[in-house]
Amino acid sequence: MATEVGAQGGYRYTFTDGETSQEYQCHICTLVARDPQQVTCCGKIYCKSCLESSKKKRQKLTCPDCNKQLTGKYFEDMRAEQGIKSLEIYCTNTDSGCQWMGAIKDIDTHLSISCPYQQVPCTNGCGAMVQRIEMEAHVTDDCQRSLVKCQHCQREGSRQLMTSNNHLNKCPNYPVRCNNDECEEVIPRRLQAAHHMTCPKAIVACEYSNIGCNRKMKREEKEEHSRESVEEHLQLAVRKIEKLELKTINSKVFRLTEFLQKKTQNKFWNSSDFYTSPRGYRMRLRNL
Ligand SMILES: [Zn+2]
Ligand SMILES: [Zn+2]
Ligand SMILES: [Zn+2]
Ligand SMILES: [Zn+2]
Ligand SMILES: [Zn+2]
Ligand SMILES: [Zn+2]
Ligand SMILES: [Zn+2]
Repeated sequence: MATEVGAQGGYRYTFTDGETSQEYQCHICTLVARDPQQVTCCGKIYCKSCLESSKKKRQKLTCPDCNKQLTGKYFEDMRAEQGIKSLEIYCTNTDSGCQWMGAIKDIDTHLSISCPYQQVPCTNGCGAMVQRIEMEAHVTDDCQRSLVKCQHCQREGSRQLMTSNNHLNKCPNYPVRCNNDECEEVIPRRLQAAHHMTCPKAIVACEYSNIGCNRKMKREEKEEHSRESVEEHLQLAVRKIEKLELKTINSKVFRLTEFLQKKTQNKFWNSSDFYTSPRGYRMRLRNL
């Protein structure tokens, strides 16, 4: 990867001798000349690209230094080129930690093949630019195109897919919070329905809804409700009974009077079996 191909002006490298060699300095950009051209008028050296942009700016090609006509009066300075290409520089990734130093002519090979700190395109083709030394970690830990297992359901897919809401919103093992008010349970999505059947915070109907109790409550309050509403449920049962045939009702009312009497005496009482309606539930009342 020739990082400076097509670059304008001279080389911006850091030279190991600490200063830009005067001998090879372009008299336009003041950097060490790239593709050095020597003019015949005054013997100065210029970068090829510097001369060309100077020509564009001034509409004619004159020596920027002595202002003489330059058409056909400069040549590629091979001697300077050789000298420049042999100048010692530091790697352009010195700041990242590269210790390499060498001739200008060798840096492109260093950067494209071996510099550990050079940014190169992801080997997985995700489009990211990654330092060569970080590539393995990138592919293992970050690359959106790497195959990974979903940490919840262990299904395999690209990291991009398996960490996207597209997957997580339907991942069967993704932990989701129970949506019943006050329930703190966090459970895998596929167990939500089963949890709802036992969730203490789920809203359920009174177990005597079939005889007319319309109360709804949290499952955990159901037992208490049943305990506290014995009389109420009993009355509902009685009303239910009252809807039975007249003959039946009379006998049940008689028994209920008997029940209340026994209850105040703290004595045990059991009704005989009866039906909540013709062909309805078979029930038996007893005091608790
Ligand atoms: Zn220049
Ligand atoms: Zn000149
Ligand atoms: Zn390097
Ligand atoms: Zn990648
Ligand atoms: Zn998953
Ligand atoms: Zn719950
Ligand atoms: Zn009830």
